[in-house]
Amino acid sequence: MSLPQQGPSPTDLSQVFDVIVIGGGITGVGVAREAVGRGLRTLLVDRGDFGGGTSAATTKYIHGGIRYLEQYDFGVVRESLRERRILALGAPHLVHQTQFIMPAWRWSKPSRALMGAGVALYDALSFDRNRGAPASLRIPHPTWLGKQRLVQQVPWLDTDGLQGGFAYHDTLNVHPERLLLAYVKSAAADGASFLTHTEVTGFAQHSDRGNVVIDGVTARDCLGGVTYTLRARVVVNAAGPWIDRVLQPLSRPLGVAVNRSKGVHVLTRPLGGPGRVDAAVFARAKSGKHVIVSPWMGGSFIGPTDTALPDGSDAVVADADDVDSILTTVNSTMNPGERALTVDDVVATTVGLRPLIRRGEQGDGGNTYSASRRHELYHHVDRGVTNLWSIGGGKWTTARATGKQMVDALLKHELRGVPTRRFDSERSGTSTTFAWAQDAAPFLAGVASAAGALGLDTATGEHLGRLYGTEYAAIIGLIGAQPGLARRITHDHGCLDVLAQAVYAVTHEGARTLDDVIDRRLVVGTLGPVSRATIGVIADVAGPLWGWDEERCGRESDAEFSRRTTLERLWRTHT
Ligand SMILES: Cc1cc2nc3c(=O)[nH]c(=O)nc-3n(C[C@H](O)[C@H](O)[C@H](O)COP(=O)(O)OP(=O)(O)OC[C@H]3O[C@@H](n4cnc5c(N)ncnc54)[C@H](O)[C@@H]3O)c2cc1C
Repeated sequence: MSLPQQGPSPTDLSQVFDVIVIGGGITGVGVAREAVGRGLRTLLVDRGDFGGGTSAATTKYIHGGIRYLEQYDFGVVRESLRERRILALGAPHLVHQTQFIMPAWRWSKPSRALMGAGVALYDALSFDRNRGAPASLRIPHPTWLGKQRLVQQVPWLDTDGLQGGFAYHDTLNVHPERLLLAYVKSAAADGASFLTHTEVTGFAQHSDRGNVVIDGVTARDCLGGVTYTLRARVVVNAAGPWIDRVLQPLSRPLGVAVNRSKGVHVLTRPLGGPGRVDAAVFARAKSGKHVIVSPWMGGSFIGPTDTALPDGSDAVVADADDVDSILTTVNSTMNPGERALTVDDVVATTVGLRPLIRRGEQGDGGNTYSASRRHELYHHVDRGVTNLWSIGGGKWTTARATGKQMVDALLKHELRGVPTRRFDSERSGTSTTFAWAQDAAPFLAGVASAAGALGLDTATGEHLGRLYGTEYAAIIGLIGAQPGLARRITHDHGCLDVLAQAVYAVTHEGARTLDDVIDRRLVVGTLGPVSRATIGVIADVAGPLWGWDEERCGRESDAEFSRRTTLERLWRTHT
């Protein structure tokens, strides 16, 4: 199922929805999928693109969060480990089991003994990890690697004081933006409506005996300027790091406060050499800072940082200090024979804001690194506002469970008595998943063979199978009808994207801007700088589908190139 190119019709938008969800990150999408799955009339509104806030900028793991054991957050870790299994079984083509190695040096804090206890506890808390899992998704027990074996496996590690390392597994969310989109498509298949690039500017409301009664939201299309009043029986504010801002038009204290913590990653040349290291390394440096170094798309994906964003700041950009901090940390864990990473080795950065719940004692500059990642549902009826909820905190991994909990609560309160149908998000794959809990390899081989019949190489075929699941057939259909669409978008960075994907992004995946196509439908934008020529190639295919003429394609391509160049300059150069 796809997202209609023109978005929902005016008639569709004039109905009273059961629920309007604000925010198209993984939290809002989790709520929308659950709500519509249970038969509720659902509309989701985002001021940007699906995942364009934080949810496309993660460390790319569906994980328990072993680090949170240090904060005794056993509840979050257990819930995350349970969800890790559910998400992997539901989309085997978009995940990879990845071995993690946590090195222990003589000076390590926590010590080797404590690390061992943590790894063992992590394993114990994931007691059901292999229930129903096919071979490729099974996770073995952790092991200890002696120094020699560890260095063989990860040759770039500093050997001075190295004792060895603990090896355990977590699940790589290979392209978080594509898995998020797969959930969007699932919700669309069940009948949910979506408005992207549409900002919620306030609430439709009336008052009743001193209480504010929410009837819906007011919104503005950020691209076309159209304004809307959208009505619903209940509104769920799932705007992630911005939930407090969404509530501002109500001008009353609602007990919601957020610490926005900036997290940056860098993509570099592969540490240890091309194809040499296939495990992720969770290294804690002497400074106490940690980095995760993941093999990803032929490079090393390294991060994250964790720095509190000052109140009032909206600067969600990676800067040179962020990049320096990551490189300094990772370089300090490398052996002196290894060429240290410099900014010249960085080809791309990602940046996102963690939506952390702010506790009373944890004001600005609070320690976001040790803040809990748990989520919280705020029922604003407690503060005199009815028909409105907000969701604070949370993780990508736990968003399905949060969505379920949220919809359960709506059905107990505002939507009590509304007819629903049975929906089991725990055992439902995404609408594009080839099969629940199956090995992806035979499916991907089948896609490669179908693509091969049209002259595409095996790697490209597998790439399409991974990104589109069962919708690969539509991409291949486009190529069958118009063979020119098999052309690579670029040969830079080993990118495998083909032109048909840009067409499909507009016609079936709700992309409304070049940035949507480049960064969150195709893979090209995540691999490194995108040249003006490549942007032009994409615009020439996507633009006419949006009604752009040649002049507009050129103008929009210039603007997109300039936007990307400005962002890159910010992290490449100190001011
Ligand atoms: C660096 C980093 C690494 C992470 N790594 C992991 C990881 O590996 N695994 C994991 O499980 N979790 C990870 N997390 C946490 C996880 O990414 C977040 O918890 C999750 O993505 C938050 O999703 P969200 O939907 O709540 O917020 P977002 O994804 O930010 O979505 C909120 C949406 O609300 C929209 N919005 C805001 N205001 C309005 C408005 N007025 N009108 C309409 N829309 C609006 C925004 O455009 C945005 O799309 C990481 C977080 C960071 C920052």
